[in-house]
Amino acid sequence: MKTTVQAALTAAIQKLVMSETARIDAEIILGYCLSKELSYLYTWPEAILSDEQLRCFNAYIERRWLGEPVAYITGYRDFWNQRLIVSENVLIPRPETELLVERSLKRLGPVEVLSVADLGTGTGAIAIAIASERPLCNITATDVSHANLSLACKNANVYNLENIHFILSNWLTSLKDKTFHVIISNPPYIVKNDIHLTTGDVRYEPEEALVSDENGLSDIRIIIRDSKRALKNGGWLLIEHGYDQSRDVQDIFKQYGYTGIGSYKDLNGWPRITEGQIYY
Ligand code: GLN
Repeated sequence: MKTTVQAALTAAIQKLVMSETARIDAEIILGYCLSKELSYLYTWPEAILSDEQLRCFNAYIERRWLGEPVAYITGYRDFWNQRLIVSENVLIPRPETELLVERSLKRLGPVEVLSVADLGTGTGAIAIAIASERPLCNITATDVSHANLSLACKNANVYNLENIHFILSNWLTSLKDKTFHVIISNPPYIVKNDIHLTTGDVRYEPEEALVSDENGLSDIRIIIRDSKRALKNGGWLLIEHGYDQSRDVQDIFKQYGYTGIGSYKDLNGWPRITEGQIYY
């Protein structure tokens, strides 16, 4: 008996029933096995899968069922307007980080030639989104890992973005002689041994990208402290943090003399981004 797109999806969704994202996961995996966009699946539910396609689909659905993130199975994740290659050494870009991009674009304004840093770029998601929206801006993207930087660079090359420079740096340590109008970061901010780390996709992601000392605030503190000298007068720092960290993060911003401090909610209603401005 031949298996149709519709039948393959129905069976997979049943198997993945424990996951909230069963339908979209099954669709992305099937699209990947067929090398088609999701619109193909909706348009051609009666299309027949070849034996090889069905074998591929079942094997990947099995991996998903065991818990592996879809992005590590397919090797990519869509973020903003780009499709990014991911590896098991980087954080998988999250929808809430698009809020960080939105706020940063507001701070950058529409047309000025400004310098921007994305600290701990991972896949390059933030830097690439900003570079594509603001072609006149110069973006510096850093990561502490050489492998991650070459992945981010590969992702940028897909979109022919020539306004990003990639620099190996532990936060701002290798950027001593540079200053920026806007600094952006989605650093690790989860508390060590947080129960959240034992469930879902994060189990597969690198701990260095997730966990930070000092109740999850250690890296955030370093970034706020060091951005103070790396920001131009009137420059903005925007940071993503945990759903329950906005008050602590605001306090750190205050402690280092930032003004205009504000937090912004993600799609789930959690204050997820905090920003502040430096004047001297
Ligand atoms: N938002 C991610 C999570 O809670 C963590 C990302 C990060 O540490 N920057 O799974």
